[in-house]
Amino acid sequence: MPTHTLIFNAHSSSRYSVAALVGAVETDPRLEHIHIEAPVRIAPNLVRKALKLGGVTVAYSVMSTQTSRIYEEVKQLRSSFRESLTLVAGGAHASARPLDSIKNGFDFVVVGEGEGVLPELLHRISNGEDPLGIKGVVGRATDKMPRPRDLVSVNLDDYPPFALKKNILGPIEVTRGCPFSCRFCATPFLTGGRVRHRSVDKVVAWLTRAVNTSGFERTWFLSPNALSYGGRGRSVESDKLELLLRQTTSIDGLREVFFGSFPSEVRPEFVTKDVLEMMRQYVANDTLQIGLQSSSDRVLKLANRHHSVEDGLKAIHDALDCGFIPHVDMIFGLPGETPEERHASIELCQELHNMGAKIHGHVFMPLPGSAFENERAGCLDPVSRSMLGELSRKGVMTGAWSAQERLAKELASMTNHGGDA
Ligand code: SF4
Repeated sequence: MPTHTLIFNAHSSSRYSVAALVGAVETDPRLEHIHIEAPVRIAPNLVRKALKLGGVTVAYSVMSTQTSRIYEEVKQLRSSFRESLTLVAGGAHASARPLDSIKNGFDFVVVGEGEGVLPELLHRISNGEDPLGIKGVVGRATDKMPRPRDLVSVNLDDYPPFALKKNILGPIEVTRGCPFSCRFCATPFLTGGRVRHRSVDKVVAWLTRAVNTSGFERTWFLSPNALSYGGRGRSVESDKLELLLRQTTSIDGLREVFFGSFPSEVRPEFVTKDVLEMMRQYVANDTLQIGLQSSSDRVLKLANRHHSVEDGLKAIHDALDCGFIPHVDMIFGLPGETPEERHASIELCQELHNMGAKIHGHVFMPLPGSAFENERAGCLDPVSRSMLGELSRKGVMTGAWSAQERLAKELASMTNHGGDA
């Protein structure tokens, strides 16, 4: 019997989602016959070899900042292999712009959360059935585009957080969905406002397996707002949070648990000394990732952040008092921000650094799926650029702010209009 192969591009930009999606495929009993490869770059030779064994599906998780690379690779694959392989796109950009992916050579797009849909899609493709009846799948013949919020949302407990058999490991996603609607963020569009958590029992069970089978020694938790664990996303549920930390840090062989640090973040108004002192007893990280974004209450309001600058400063002080180094996220060039407000934000970065914080600087990007998707790309005035350059040289600021200014322009020119000063 021919072997169907799934080749999933495991580029560093999408490693976490690839780990979870390959995990969903490798644990689906209907797909035991599928051979899985997850290379960082898809070499033509790999495809050629797989085609000798049977059908081939090539999958990409498409982020908005990765479209140029991925579309070029897809063009090459199409020109080398024509219709002999099936190309599938998923991820944030593909979900918000499915037709863009189809126009750029993909056969099918998985819109929204992929854990349930991708295995069903593969099952049908490998059996020669038409996948277009699956809710959330878009193809060339689709005339009505599904939106993630109209589709079934995934229960995290039903799927593995990573792919143990293929040894593609990553952070454990403990929370999905966010009840806030920050206008620069595509998370509410992609995963909805209903907050879902992976239960403590499941987190412990998967971590124990990872320790025993893959020599896992440390773990990171993924969440849009780490301090929302266990609740509805609007307040801290200390007991549930502590249960998660106590149970996971008690796993034999697991030496370190990182929580509230990159790649997760915490909202400022969730930070209190009580919760940080509790966390301190368990977590290995000495940093806390705090989203402040601006030094202007007016700009925060325009972005629908629902917290004040004062909330942010208090969170930073509390973190320092409790022995955490605050890593503060700031976004420059948000819609409606004046140059003066931008300069004040950058000056605040220096002050925060003097207090002991570190700053991650970003430039606003009009992400597809976000409420600001049709806004102009964030563009820095010369004074801001020089101030940020100076802070970066002095080591006050890290972050991809400079590359993001270019990416934001590319994104805006693709989707609406370019940036201006
Ligand atoms: S930025 Fe954070 S809090 Fe705001 S909508 Fe996105 S995930 Fe939620």
